[in-house]
Amino acid sequence: MATFGPIRAFVDDIADLSPNFRRIVFTGPDLDSLVTGSCFDQRIKLIFPTSGSLPVIADGENWYREWLEIPENERGVMRTYSMRYLDRKNDQTRISVDFVMHEMDGVSGPAAQWAKNAAVSDEIVIIAPRDGAASGGIEFNSGDADRIVLLGDETAAPAIARILEDLAKEQSTVPCTAYIEVPTNQDCVTIDAAPHHGVTWLPREGALHGSRLAPALGWDVSDDARISAVSPDRAEDDLVWETPAYSSAGECVSDISAPVHGTYYWIAGESGVVKQLRRFLVNEIGVDRSQVAFMGYWREGVSMKG
Ligand SMILES: Cc1cc2nc3c(=O)[nH]c(=O)nc-3n(C[C@H](O)[C@H](O)[C@H](O)COP(=O)(O)OP(=O)(O)OC[C@H]3O[C@@H](n4cnc5c(N)ncnc54)[C@H](O)[C@@H]3O)c2cc1C
Repeated sequence: MATFGPIRAFVDDIADLSPNFRRIVFTGPDLDSLVTGSCFDQRIKLIFPTSGSLPVIADGENWYREWLEIPENERGVMRTYSMRYLDRKNDQTRISVDFVMHEMDGVSGPAAQWAKNAAVSDEIVIIAPRDGAASGGIEFNSGDADRIVLLGDETAAPAIARILEDLAKEQSTVPCTAYIEVPTNQDCVTIDAAPHHGVTWLPREGALHGSRLAPALGWDVSDDARISAVSPDRAEDDLVWETPAYSSAGECVSDISAPVHGTYYWIAGESGVVKQLRRFLVNEIGVDRSQVAFMGYWREGVSMKG
């Protein structure tokens, strides 16, 4: 088996954690090749069947090109998710993914729809780092920061939970505070964070998306004459992705790829919201870009591309 490329897995368990989170556990013999250990915000790709069956994609470095060559109505849809858990127990490897069950006016996306209808033993394709492969897909890098702030909406909640639990496992003594905006009070799910790490849940309860996150950064939106509300802005379809080492906007990336002191900010969620939070933090407060990672995880009104 190659060190990178798609592998098949099947649904082992399904649990509704809250009104808006459904946990789906995947297993299968091919998952034994995955890298275990701290995964922090490790992103993975999932391919969902759209025409009843999954595409057959050869294992190996060129899997993406091969997948794109399959006719669109046969190749399924690919979406990005976070690994909430990756466990190896009793010779069985299991990946848990927490799906946000988003739906607006009865319409959701193919991934959320698949999760809604999923049943035990349903098959899926997973692309995740394997033993022996060059690692990739982990953005969290707090370097030598004195303090960590994690902030995101419900799509970032699984990654934030994993980061907190991995920091606890690694016995990190760096103070860390997480702010997680979720649709309702019932979506404040369990996170086994270290006692000295704080988790503040911010239920939206009908308020504007992102409006609970801004004050957590010290931004009093109601007092800001220039931007009256933090909400998705519809200027472009692309996801914002600005980390100390990479800039989707083509900004100059510094030689410093992780903080050497001060506060490290890890921020993810709806792209337009993330962009506005970035504007506040970098342009208004003057936080250095080596201290921040801003990642658009989805875009309001835009269906993601594989
Ligand atoms: C690195 C990374 C990690 C991620 N981790 C997770 C994760 O662990 N769990 C998770 O649930 N998501 C996660 N996401 C977000 C997920 O990939 C998107 O929400 C994706 O759009 C879902 O695909 P879909 O097929 O359901 O909807 P799409 O076909 O992409 O979109 C259809 C419509 O639904 C809207 N939409 C999409 N997502 C949401 C949402 N969450 N709330 C409201 N409306 C939405 C779109 O704007 C569009 O109008 C992650 C994304 C990235 C980049």
